[in-house]
Amino acid sequence: MSEEHLSPTHKFLKTLTILFVEDDPDIHQLLDRVILRHAGTLITAHDGQEGFRKFQEYKPDIIVTDILMPTLDGLAMTKMIRDTDSEIPIIVTTAHNDEEYFLRSIDLGIDRYVLKPTNPHTLLKALSHCARALWRRREQESANRYVRFVLDIQPNLLLVTDHERLEYINRAFLNFLGYPSLENFLADGADLGEWLLTRAGEPFGVQESPGCWIQTLLATSQEQGVVYLRGTASGEAPTTATPFAITFNALPELNKFIFSFSDITHLEKEKQQLEVQAFTDALTGTCNRARLQGVLNAELRRAHRHEIPLSIILCDIDHFKRINDQFGHQTGDDVLRQVAALMSANIRAEDILARWGGEEFMIVSPQNDLENMRQLAEKLRALIESGQFAAAGHITCSFGVAQRQANDTIRELTERADRALYAAKNGGRNRVEIATNA
Ligand code: GH3
Ligand code: MG
Ligand code: MG
Repeated sequence: MSEEHLSPTHKFLKTLTILFVEDDPDIHQLLDRVILRHAGTLITAHDGQEGFRKFQEYKPDIIVTDILMPTLDGLAMTKMIRDTDSEIPIIVTTAHNDEEYFLRSIDLGIDRYVLKPTNPHTLLKALSHCARALWRRREQESANRYVRFVLDIQPNLLLVTDHERLEYINRAFLNFLGYPSLENFLADGADLGEWLLTRAGEPFGVQESPGCWIQTLLATSQEQGVVYLRGTASGEAPTTATPFAITFNALPELNKFIFSFSDITHLEKEKQQLEVQAFTDALTGTCNRARLQGVLNAELRRAHRHEIPLSIILCDIDHFKRINDQFGHQTGDDVLRQVAALMSANIRAEDILARWGGEEFMIVSPQNDLENMRQLAEKLRALIESGQFAAAGHITCSFGVAQRQANDTIRELTERADRALYAAKNGGRNRVEIATNA
């Protein structure tokens, strides 16, 4: 039969190496030729020990073995082979057809039996059957390799799970985790639940059972769409967490999920910068009015709830219009910046300085009472009075101080500070006035 007429299986068989283990030289004489005619290469052995040695040396594709042989019998050899290779097809030729033998060989994962005396045609059928299975498996393996290759060249971090187990993570993910392979990662006893963090920095955790994180990840990708991965490189100190936008795709027919993580560090940084910008006064770098509103809201509520003091200072630069008129708007700006810097350097870390309006500033001071606040305002007033401010030189400021009263609104509190400031202006400027109650 010419090669072109062979079926794909038989063509494939022509490329394979067969190890034939049999102690009877007559059988070898008969079957070696049959095998050689249909397979690529034939390796022969005459007992189990030689068979095992040649299995290791030649790495055959299919093994055909007798059972009863000297030194090491076929089933003992099969067991040794199975311990190193659970996949290789093994065909057993046997004169035994008793149950005991069959049960033992099923345990060993034998693929096919051929009864002795061996009919060449029956052996050939068994070889074709194994070749076909091997062909399919190799096709499958090459398809898997292809899929993994495609996953591995993706820049995003990808992971594949069934609903319980981590099945695959791509190269980018392994690089992030600092492991050469998934096997390495798992052998380390690592659980991805310890690497995944919520926005608050809490690990998803191993929880009740390993793999719980998959459900949390699913929920997170549907709700927030952002997760964090703990900083990396095994052995090194953990660095800060990295934010990822996460999407998932379900493959119901394969019972798999593919999660894709894309690094959004740059977006998060931009977002933080925008947030800072949105709440900062561009000229002086202090909090702006919008931020001040939020701070006052939170602090006033906290002070009411815990019945603790909360005081504010309103500060207005005296005759600022004249500074502008006399030295120019640019100098006016410099003075504003310098006044802000001076006040900022002389308040506590927990105090908040904000630009209230054109040349007016507010200091919000949690847990500070009226007397402390008056002293602070007085200190600032004296510092400003004695300072040098850009081209304008000598300047002064007026201050109004007010303390929270029960049930105050932001408006009531600030209006009292404003009235005190007005009194300071009326009283001749460059002075501190304290708000009278109600
Ligand atoms: P008083 O002592 O009564 O507070 O007098 P004043 O001149 O300081 O007060 P007035 O409210 O009459 O003028 C405030 C001036 O502040 C008017 C405005 O042009 C100026 N101003 C407001 N914002 C800025 C700013 O960002 N830069 C500069 N250079 N000037 C500003
Ligand atoms: Mg003024
Ligand atoms: Mg003013």
